[in-house]
Amino acid sequence: MGGPVADVRLAGIGMTSARTRDRLVQRLREQGIRSPEVLDRIRNVPRHIFVDEALSSRAYEDTALPIGHGQTISQPYIVARMTEALLEGGPLFNVLEVGTGCGYQTAVLAPLVDKLYSIERIEPLLKRAKERIRELGVKNVRFRHGDGYRGWPTHAPYDGMLVAAAPLRVPDALLEQLKVGGRLIVPVGPEGAQELVRFTRREQKIERQNLGPVAFVPLLEGTT
Ligand code: SAH
Repeated sequence: MGGPVADVRLAGIGMTSARTRDRLVQRLREQGIRSPEVLDRIRNVPRHIFVDEALSSRAYEDTALPIGHGQTISQPYIVARMTEALLEGGPLFNVLEVGTGCGYQTAVLAPLVDKLYSIERIEPLLKRAKERIRELGVKNVRFRHGDGYRGWPTHAPYDGMLVAAAPLRVPDALLEQLKVGGRLIVPVGPEGAQELVRFTRREQKIERQNLGPVAFVPLLEGTT
């Protein structure tokens, strides 16, 4: 990519301008997001390039939007909340993201960690996410088309994991691929009754901390 047309699209105009993004950041601050580095990423990642052009004027509203294939781009507040919850507890080197979707959460998180591995079960979504991440010049992400239910054993263990779709109960494979001291942020439960949870692996046990009610698409098994 590159060139003046791409530059204008990335910078944004009108409803996608810096002022519009600042308003979103202010709103997230009021809702309790404290981490300056997370707020900085929300300000700097052009969310409008992750949605259809017809929706780009709504890209800086704090709301989930359709991205095709029955999936949605997560609400900015949720992306910020999950990223903040993941970062609490020290620097992250090896991180797994399950449910790449359009790649927005990937773009927010990648520069805050050393290496990010991102897995998605719907191939066309993954392909577009890869293109956008490349367009943004983010280089520390490896993508895979696969079933995140099983994690990504090749690069395990991870000191951080973030799951963007809700299983009924947390898959054992994910907990098994977590390092001691590592944390897993995941929405758990059936539609209408999901809870965002942080699991932290300790030497002898796994700690569970509830972070509040959320609404995610289900984590499905297999690939398409
Ligand atoms: N964070 C994403 C949100 C994506 S929505 C964003 O910012 O756009 C959740 C995504 O999880 C969907 O794209 C869905 O296809 C994917 N997903 C659901 N089950 C999965 C699984 N078992 N493995 C990998 N991805 C899965």
